Amino acid sequence: MEECACLCGMGSSRGCRCPQKHQRPAETAAADGKPAQAEKHVEGDAAARCCAGSGGIASPMPPPLPPHCSLQDLPVEMLVEIFAWVPATDLPSLAQSCTKFHHTLHIDSIWRRRCQEEFGVRENLQNLEMIGMSYREVYTKLFPYRNILGLWQLDNSYRTLVNVVVDGLCITGWKYRPSFHTHVGGPIHFKPVFRICLTERKSATVECMEGPHNRPHNRQVRIQKDWFTTHCNQTYHRKDLAASLRDEWVRVLIGEDRQRYDLLTYRRLYLPPSHPDDLIRPGLFQYYLDDFGLKIAMLSFHGKYARVTDITGYSKKTLEIHLMRRIQLRDGEIFRYFNELSRVVQEIEEQVIREQQEDGTEESQGHGWQSPAQPSVGESRAAAWEEQPVPFVLPVGVHSRDQNYPRTCRMCFYGVDTLAIIGSSYLKSFPGVFILFDENHFGFIWRVEKCFFLYSRVQNTFQNVEAPSPQAFLEMLKNIQSMP
Ligand SMILES: [Zn+2]
Repeated sequence: MEECACLCGMGSSRGCRCPQKHQRPAETAAADGKPAQAEKHVEGDAAARCCAGSGGIASPMPPPLPPHCSLQDLPVEMLVEIFAWVPATDLPSLAQSCTKFHHTLHIDSIWRRRCQEEFGVRENLQNLEMIGMSYREVYTKLFPYRNILGLWQLDNSYRTLVNVVVDGLCITGWKYRPSFHTHVGGPIHFKPVFRICLTERKSATVECMEGPHNRPHNRQVRIQKDWFTTHCNQTYHRKDLAASLRDEWVRVLIGEDRQRYDLLTYRRLYLPPSHPDDLIRPGLFQYYLDDFGLKIAMLSFHGKYARVTDITGYSKKTLEIHLMRRIQLRDGEIFRYFNELSRVVQEIEEQVIREQQEDGTEESQGHGWQSPAQPSVGESRAAAWEEQPVPFVLPVGVHSRDQNYPRTCRMCFYGVDTLAIIGSSYLKSFPGVFILFDENHFGFIWRVEKCFFLYSRVQNTFQNVEAPSPQAFLEMLKNIQSMP
């Protein structure tokens, strides 16, 4: 390496004479904190060497200029510590810069750290030794599949979720299995549908795990940035389909899906960006729309509006909450007289329609999701939690599938639920009341139909689900909405 990766700790303004500085990859990594510590050691080391020259006794001569020092002078252990913090995509150029770095980058603990940081690998070295594999090899095997990790939505008329994670030395796709018997507060269940095994010496194999007997067989996977496809030509799946048809949740599965079942396309899902001022933490919630089982919806905040967007199932229900149109609870009394609550909602509804007619812009029509993803305005989280909870009881005459709802609530807002059925022209709006119970629960009452839906936070955690930008998240949300 010709240039000095300046680690002398002086900086140009304080007399460093290193010809080039602040541009090397290892220095970029100093932002992580750890190499900064290494830098400090070098500084101490350099100071010690300076003093050694003068025998440690104060000299009347002006202090000598600090010696020229370089990253190459560092002991290997320290280099390992530094390199382990460098993104692996930068390591090849580091390896090319000099023989010492090249050899250092063969030390496997660097690659163990990269596997942990970038892919969440939690295997320990002993297991790897048993199969005679290094972390460097594991990294190399995982790298081509890095874009498949995360949460995906099956792109057919029954939209299900697949969560793809690194699982030991495999990458496993776990498919969401809705259940009739789960309470909305319970965890959501997944079953493995494919597995990419990385333990083989040769190239990785993709195993399909669908079918009635779960006999693993070959499957092809094609991965792009925002979608991937899996293809399997086994006929097991049709039998599996017949078996699952007995599960009522797919009994309306249409013929088109039957033909396309073996070639599946998945679209990437991001979880909503979060802001401390949001009314509650955005994320995934589950609820019962009807007797066809649990559905999953995504809560996100968009300034004056919050949205709850269905991400599974044949029906697309989108709830839009008007955060600027709060309904006063009067110590919970309002729930005791549904006619009174209904009248308040109707008044707001009429006002919204008037405003839309006066000002025909899209924003006033409540399409809050078209504005950039931003924290909620109007009522903040702080305001919500300062409110004393008031007693909540489902108003007489309002139907609910779930009677196990919280008995206190904090805030109510006007909202509009819109229901569409995929593959049909059905589209209907249901104005009503959004009820905020607590951090993990909210509900909605359709005013005219007198139906109540309880939403409960999905407690599962997901990795690789952060949107690269608020715009990317919005783009994804629009795509979910625009599915035919
Ligand atoms: Zn298969």
